[in-house]
Amino acid sequence: MLFFAQQHGNEQSGKEGVLLLAKTLLKPEYAYLFNKIDLVLIPQVNPDGSELNKRRNANNADLNRNHLIMTEPETKAIHKLFDKYLFEVTVDVHEYSPYGDDWKKYGYRKNTDVTLGSTTNINIPEKIRKYSDSLVLPFVLKRLKEKGFSSFVYCPGGPPDSAYIRHSTFDINDGRQSLGIQNTLSFIQEGMNGIDTYKENIRHRAEGQMNGMLAMLEFIHANKTKIKKLIKNERKSLLSGLKNGKTSVQMIHTGNGKKLTLPLRSYFTGNDTIVLVDDYRPVVKSLTEVINPIGYLIPKSDKNLLGWMKSIDLKYETFKPGKNIKIEEYLVQLVDSTDFEGDTVIDPDLTSRYYDNLSFTDYYYIPVDQFKGKMIIQALEPKSMIGLATYRQFAYLVKEGTAFPVLRIIRTKN
Ligand SMILES: [Zn+2]
Repeated sequence: MLFFAQQHGNEQSGKEGVLLLAKTLLKPEYAYLFNKIDLVLIPQVNPDGSELNKRRNANNADLNRNHLIMTEPETKAIHKLFDKYLFEVTVDVHEYSPYGDDWKKYGYRKNTDVTLGSTTNINIPEKIRKYSDSLVLPFVLKRLKEKGFSSFVYCPGGPPDSAYIRHSTFDINDGRQSLGIQNTLSFIQEGMNGIDTYKENIRHRAEGQMNGMLAMLEFIHANKTKIKKLIKNERKSLLSGLKNGKTSVQMIHTGNGKKLTLPLRSYFTGNDTIVLVDDYRPVVKSLTEVINPIGYLIPKSDKNLLGWMKSIDLKYETFKPGKNIKIEEYLVQLVDSTDFEGDTVIDPDLTSRYYDNLSFTDYYYIPVDQFKGKMIIQALEPKSMIGLATYRQFAYLVKEGTAFPVLRIIRTKN
């Protein structure tokens, strides 16, 4: 298991909670956990931000939006550690701030001590998402309440009169989803930020975070065999399944006919209340899928892409063409746009042309049968609403009237 905290430097209780956890775990009554669990703690991912009590790191990057383009030393370090141990369970520890102007205007704000969320990207196997949502989350949230901390399932966004409520983005550029997409049981825990992020209620906030992590350890310990098996099987099928399956590259949040009962606190009376959220969209649906290639060809002349490939530590090789393959090249006919969780992202119209042969020495080959396979596909497909081409640094990849420089290798026969 891996707990990592304070990617955002102004979320002090994550770090304090992990340090408190380290101290607590030294007590004899918790020794039993280590009969079954190997645990790694990173209390402070972003020390520079913490020093200034700022969200971003010293390079002014939001680390929790950096897990796909991976330009920052802090995110690279997390993934290097993950790649080494291939943790089966990970928890990314944060704080949420309930004090925004939009909430003030609404008249109510969130007031939950600790929230916990799991993965939502639809390319993460349903078995993993279901296990997280129906077993892990309820256990931890209940245990928190028993220890005197209010708890609720992670649902960022709002207020409910101006925005729909969902259980987070399905983007894979954050800590939780970028590890989850490698078929990991992966979570985000958020404590409530104080108005003074250093001082206000810091003991209570740190203890809430610590108790959430402790409950997670308790659950994982009790269900270790089942979890090991689940992750082992899903990671195995991640590698074998990619050759034939499909990957969703455009998704949407939808409702399921249910309303959400959201606990809030009145800004004016200080009383707790509940609000029935009409526009509640807990379900992620796929809009567009691509047939998985067996791998991609990256032009050696594109230093930008090579830099990305290396910083994300992908397996790559020189392509050895065998029989029964086709090389697919996308032609960008038109660059339209689409809405992605309130932002506008590119949505190109594509046609394909095929080659039987090519000068393979001009390319590196990235096979998709690796743990990051689903991440690779979502990063490298030009129609992906969370792909590389939606980032400023890679916007040049999709240009109207030109060929997309990354090529797909497709198997024509199994
Ligand atoms: Zn955060």
